[in-house]
Amino acid sequence: MAERILVVEDEPLVAQLVSLNLTHAGHQVEIAADYPSGLAAICRPDGFELAIVDVMLPGGDGFELIKEARGQGVGFPIMMLTARNEISSKVRGLDVGADDYLTKPFDVAELLARVRALLRRAHTAPTLTGHPLVTLGKCWIRFDTGQALTNEGELSLSEKELKLMELFVGAENEALSRTDILEEVWGMDAFPTDRTVDNFILRLRRLFEPDPEHPVHFVTLRGRGYLFKR
Ligand code: CA
Repeated sequence: MAERILVVEDEPLVAQLVSLNLTHAGHQVEIAADYPSGLAAICRPDGFELAIVDVMLPGGDGFELIKEARGQGVGFPIMMLTARNEISSKVRGLDVGADDYLTKPFDVAELLARVRALLRRAHTAPTLTGHPLVTLGKCWIRFDTGQALTNEGELSLSEKELKLMELFVGAENEALSRTDILEEVWGMDAFPTDRTVDNFILRLRRLFEPDPEHPVHFVTLRGRGYLFKR
């Protein structure tokens, strides 16, 4: 199904660039060019799967818009788009309920990758709430508490290990590139490298593989990334 994406942006060129690229990627796009129409659209029941919101808008600012939308129960992912580069804007955006943040000028490929990551995250979340316990052979992971029974006994997984496991479970039998994994697990809060991903996979193998040297759950796809199998 084509995801419906709302773009709240007053600069016609930026709105068109974003809209064209998202449409080309298979999404349905609606543009709102000021604060009042943006707020009305974002709060429409069952209107969208994702919104991209500019900070400086005629009639109000994007921070207020997101705060208001979250207050009215809007739960889908929202990405902020802004010319401001200060860390304070980023923090403020996340505080009012934005899920991600991109500064102008941005790279279209990066915008699309982040949109993909946000949509995928939104899709995998309900599955996990429904199935908080995942078993891997004799091992198990509880996503509600972060506890796991591993080859090294019962222990608490770190936040990143849990996020990575959530991603794998939500994308079972799908190839995930290192870039996919970095975007979804590390997002914008660090500057890790591909090597970071590899180290986390090695750790998960040590914890959960019957034979870590010959993985059957966390499989390497040469040149493509990783694939998780139950
Ligand atoms: Ca603007």
